[in-house]
Amino acid sequence: MSQTTLETYFSKVDELKPAFIQRLSDAVAIPSVSSDEGLRPQVVEMAHYLKEQLANLGAVDIELKELGTQPPPVINSTLQLPPVVLSRFGKDPSKKTVLIYGHYDVQPALLEDGWNTNPFELVLKDDKLYGRGSTDDKGPVIGWLNAIEAHRNAGIELPVNIVTCFEGMEESGSLGLDELIEQERDAYFKGVDAVCISDNYWLGTKKPVLTYGLRGCNYYQVSIKGPGADLHSGIFGGVIAEPMTDLVRVLATLVNGQGEIQIPGIMEMVAPVTPEEEALYKDIDFDVSDLTAASGSNTALYQSKKDILMHRWRFPSLSIHGVEGAFSSGGAKTVIPSKVIGKFSIRTVPNIESAKLDQIVIDYVNAEFAKLGSPNTATCELIHDGAYWVSNPHNASFTAAAKATKAVWGVEPDLTREGGSIPITLSFEEKLKTSVLLLPMGRGDDGAHSINEKVDMSNYIGGIKTLGAYLHYYAASDTN
Ligand SMILES: [Zn+2]
Repeated sequence: MSQTTLETYFSKVDELKPAFIQRLSDAVAIPSVSSDEGLRPQVVEMAHYLKEQLANLGAVDIELKELGTQPPPVINSTLQLPPVVLSRFGKDPSKKTVLIYGHYDVQPALLEDGWNTNPFELVLKDDKLYGRGSTDDKGPVIGWLNAIEAHRNAGIELPVNIVTCFEGMEESGSLGLDELIEQERDAYFKGVDAVCISDNYWLGTKKPVLTYGLRGCNYYQVSIKGPGADLHSGIFGGVIAEPMTDLVRVLATLVNGQGEIQIPGIMEMVAPVTPEEEALYKDIDFDVSDLTAASGSNTALYQSKKDILMHRWRFPSLSIHGVEGAFSSGGAKTVIPSKVIGKFSIRTVPNIESAKLDQIVIDYVNAEFAKLGSPNTATCELIHDGAYWVSNPHNASFTAAAKATKAVWGVEPDLTREGGSIPITLSFEEKLKTSVLLLPMGRGDDGAHSINEKVDMSNYIGGIKTLGAYLHYYAASDTN
C-alpha cells in the first residue's frame, strides 16, 4: 500500500462527510431497541436497511440469517429474533479476509429520561452528533459502510476480502449469535483471517486506544429459606431464625470494604503481573480525576493510575448487587421475609478457571452459612458466566490497527483493557480460531447506554478513516 492510496482515501472520506452524516442520521431514525418487544419490527427494519445499503455498495451473498424464536422470558411467545446480516465484499483467494462485527440494535431511550433532544433524531451540536446509537453501535457499523463507499468512490480496490456480521440482539444478550457462529464456522465464515469488532471506546476523551482484554463475569445467587411465609416481627422477632439476618452475615464475609475478595483460593489463581505488562500502564492517558468524574463521587479505593486501572482490568472484583425477597420500599414495614436471595458476581481475569471458581465460591458460602449454626437452609448456585478475554496486543492485527491509528490521529494508541465483558469476542476467537481486535471509534464520555448519547464529529470521521486504514495495514502485514 502506498502512502498516496491512504491519502486519497482520507480526502475522499472528508469529501463525503455530508453523505456519511446523512447515512448515520437515517440509521439513528430507526428505533431498533432490541429489549422492547413492541419495537421488534423496527429492529427488523434496521436489518433490511443495512441489507439495502450493502447491496448498493456492491456486497454479494447478502443474507439475513434468521435465528428462530426468542427464548423465554418473553411476553409474545412467538417473537422472532432479529436476523444477523451477513454479506461479502470480494472473494479473492490471494487476499486476507477480515470479518467485521457490529450490532444494529440499540438501548432504549425516551425524551423523558432526560435527553435534550429526540433520541431518534441525529442532532449536530458543538461538533458532536447526538442520538441513540450514534456511538453504540450504529456509528461504527455505518462507519464500515462509509469506509467501503469511500474506497469505491475513490476507485481504490479493497485490500482485503470483507465479511460483515451485523447482529440485532447485542444489547439483549446476543441471543442466537453463538449458535450462528458455530453453524457458519466452516461455511460463511470459512477462511476468515481476522475479526475486527468496533463496539468499544477510548478510555478517556483525548487519546485513541486499542483494547486487548476484557474481564469475564460469573454471577451467583445464595438463597436462604426459613419460615413458611413472611412473618410479623412483633410476634416472631427474637423467637425464630431469620433468613435475612443469615444472608447479611454470609454476604458480609465475601468482600471487605477495601474491595478485597475474602474467599481463599481466588487471588491465588490470578496471573502474576509481568514487567512487560506493567510497562504498558506507564503512558496511558488516565487520572484519578477521570474516575471521580465517571463515578460522580470521591469514593475511589485507590489513588494511583496504575492501581485503579489494574484493579479495573486485570484483577478480579466481587460486587454484591441486591437481595430478592427483601423489603425494599420506603417506610417501615415490620416484616420478617421468609426467603431471601442474595445476588453477587465476580469479574474474572486470567488465569481463573471458571469451574474451579464456582466450586470454591459455593463451598465457601456453604461453610460460612454452616458456621452460623442456623436452622434455616441455604443454597448457593451459579446463574450465568461469561469468560474473560485477553489477546496479544502485538500481533499482526493489533500492529496494523496501531499503524492506522497513528496515520489518522498522529499518536500511538494506548493499549488498554476493559473491566466489562463482550462475550462474543471470545466466541469469535475460539470458534473461528482467529485473532480478534477491538478497534474503537468513540470516546469514553460518549454516554453509550445513557442519556444524550453522542459521537464527536472528529471521532466519527476519524473513525471511518481508521477502520479503512486498518484494512490496508492489515493486508500489508506478513503474518496473521
Ligand atoms: Zn455496543
